[in-house]
Amino acid sequence: MFQPDVTIIGGGLAGCEAAWQLAERGVRVALVEMKPAQQSPAHTTPLLAELVCSNSLRSDEITAPAGLLKAELRACRSFIIACADEARVPAGEALAVDRRLFSQLCTVRIARHPFIRLERRRVDRLPEGPAILAGGPLLAGGAAHELQRLCGERLYFYDAIAPIVDADSIDWSCCFRASRHDRSGGDGAEGDYVNCPLTREEYYRLVEEIRRGRKVLPHPFEEPRYFEGCLPIEVMVERGADTLAFGPLRPVGLIDPRNPSEPPFAVVQLRAENRYGTAYNLVGFQTRLAYPEQKRIFSLIPALRQAEWLRFGSIHRNSYVESWRVLDTELALRSKPSLHLAGQITGVEGYIESTAMGLLAAWFVHGKLTGRPLPPPPETTALGGLYQHVIRPRQPGERYVPMNINFGLLPPLPGRTRKTERRALMAQRAQRALQAWLAELDTGRTQPARSQSLSAASTAAP
Ligand SMILES: Cc1cc2nc3c(=O)[nH]c(=O)nc-3n(C[C@H](O)[C@H](O)[C@H](O)COP(=O)(O)OP(=O)(O)OC[C@H]3O[C@@H](n4cnc5c(N)ncnc54)[C@H](O)[C@@H]3O)c2cc1C
Repeated sequence: MFQPDVTIIGGGLAGCEAAWQLAERGVRVALVEMKPAQQSPAHTTPLLAELVCSNSLRSDEITAPAGLLKAELRACRSFIIACADEARVPAGEALAVDRRLFSQLCTVRIARHPFIRLERRRVDRLPEGPAILAGGPLLAGGAAHELQRLCGERLYFYDAIAPIVDADSIDWSCCFRASRHDRSGGDGAEGDYVNCPLTREEYYRLVEEIRRGRKVLPHPFEEPRYFEGCLPIEVMVERGADTLAFGPLRPVGLIDPRNPSEPPFAVVQLRAENRYGTAYNLVGFQTRLAYPEQKRIFSLIPALRQAEWLRFGSIHRNSYVESWRVLDTELALRSKPSLHLAGQITGVEGYIESTAMGLLAAWFVHGKLTGRPLPPPPETTALGGLYQHVIRPRQPGERYVPMNINFGLLPPLPGRTRKTERRALMAQRAQRALQAWLAELDTGRTQPARSQSLSAASTAAP
């Protein structure tokens, strides 16, 4: 009789990764997936690990953040990345897959693993025993209600993201540092915000382009539901050409030290996105503008003419928890420590990021079950940067928004280096740190109780 040690809810990317990692370590897993009896509004097949949109897992170059994260996942023997590598289709420097083959590989291997029992039903009650919730951005049914009960206001259903810019690409000669109504009296203390002033002409041109710019339409299952305090810029622009100038772009209380007698007409404020000051978000710029339009239109802000965007703004349906408040450092819910969270629901964004959080959650659970707690991944790795994004305490007033992997999540290198060189050096540093971490785990751990070779499993369609 199969008695599972751990229940995993959701057979998406994170759930499959977590199930495989645990099973390969000799832990018996019940993986519960609601498809095909119930499909989310975005899923269409009965297969596990379904890619709901693009078939690309993004760059495979080690000097790109997504490439580095994938390289680290390969070093950690990620199940999802191994299946993706096998289902690869030509896509230049990106790892793109034949989506059906990819999901078939995942489904068959999971279904045939002797330590995994695949159950096809919707979970409406969260289990009492050790469990991982990996229900994704469209978590369904009673599980979502229970999670809401456990997290209260800390469970969000929509994402409203402002774009993030690389600090090195800001034209610092066109902006000034100050906090609104700064009372430092000009003693040289720098304010917390980077302020990008606009003339009247620049402001109205920006507003007009935002009004005319191409927007991404909501999916059929997304009712445009906005909070007054967090309106998309295009919605504010529709309310009148001056709305932004009296809202997030108001110049009140901001004095440009280069021109103290003449207040700017409007000011775009940038706020530090990380503690290293290597990335800044555009305050109040959550938007549905298409990505190329964001690039074109925001370059009308003089300080951002050459901006390099680490992430574009977006608004979409997405269930995620405010992880740093509701989870402990092992990704378990503080209010229900037997339940760990994995995947996009922890506040990461994207296929590989969700996979990474599935792998880490499984390793934390395994550490708990065996009494050998997992040391956290080093901060200088992409895995560690993502993990820090999820658990790092925030400043008062700092919003928690889901994140793709980007170099802004990793500590900067000491001194100044050119960008091309910097990425290579950060990747080398990450790989050294990851190898040291894995070596530490190898010496401190028992070997997996059994190991099933990936190639031994059949690739036939289920
Ligand atoms: C419309 C849309 C488009 C996207 N496009 C992209 C893209 O192009 N590129 C990209 O990188 N990311 C994209 N994402 C994000 C991407 O879906 C996620 O990053 C990734 O799939 C999340 O992995 P996950 O394992 O956390 O969740 P999922 O892959 O969504 O898996 C969750 C699984 O849990 C199951 N489930 C849910 N509730 C229950 C329940 N109560 N009981 C049992 N099973 C349940 C679901 O059926 C699903 O199979 C998109 C998301 C959406 C919604």
